[in-house]
Amino acid sequence: MLLQFDEMKKGQDINKVIRQHVEMDEFFTGGFAIKGQKVMRDRANQEDNAAVADAAKGLERIADEVCRCRECGLGSTRTNAVPGEGNPNARIMFIGEAPGADEDAQGRPFVGRAGKLLDKIIVACGLKRSDVFIGNILKCRPPDNRDPAAEEIISCLPYLQRQIEIIDPEIIVALGAHAARTLLNTNKSIGQLRGQFHEYYAGLGRAPIKLMPTYHTAYLLRNYSQENRQRVWEDMKKVLAELGLLIPERGEK
Ligand code: URA
Repeated sequence: MLLQFDEMKKGQDINKVIRQHVEMDEFFTGGFAIKGQKVMRDRANQEDNAAVADAAKGLERIADEVCRCRECGLGSTRTNAVPGEGNPNARIMFIGEAPGADEDAQGRPFVGRAGKLLDKIIVACGLKRSDVFIGNILKCRPPDNRDPAAEEIISCLPYLQRQIEIIDPEIIVALGAHAARTLLNTNKSIGQLRGQFHEYYAGLGRAPIKLMPTYHTAYLLRNYSQENRQRVWEDMKKVLAELGLLIPERGEK
């Protein structure tokens, strides 16, 4: 493990510096797990259970509609629509840009290389994929993975807005510029947006939802530097702290 010279120079507690580096090294290896965390909201009584069942049904209805959708041209170029998947009772929603080739082939979000990295981030946070909900701005793959077109976003966004309304997560993690800009209605860069909480406007009479933009895992794969990994880890630590979840430390199982 190479420690940065300037960190040593600054006279920081060497144990702290080492721990931070170990944490980072293990960040994407999935070596963390913490038991007994309140990763979902308490649903103690029957009424609450019924609410979760209703949410699951609502999400299924949206998924059916998405699979039949022909609102934009992507409806005729896709192999499978990718409505999104996960826990209807999730406290965190991860939102990406649009399905890629693997997702288009399987009809499931984040199952390719970028998805495997997202899985590792989720595990590094002490969570399981089944604890969270994972979706996208666009539900169908743009040919050759080109950027989403404005009219595609306009026709597809209502599906995601309804998913967010049903799940009502405490935090949305927007993966990459397209997700963050669309959900925050801004054209700032991901570099400007990431690292701090913003507010997602959830509709009239509804409380805004905290939104943390961070780098997309596909970007991270292309720019897999220690600095970028550390930035994503810092963003995720803020999310965990906001939810009152333990920030995993090495060795906790
Ligand atoms: N990239 C995305 O933005 N979404 C996916 O589902 C997969 C890759």
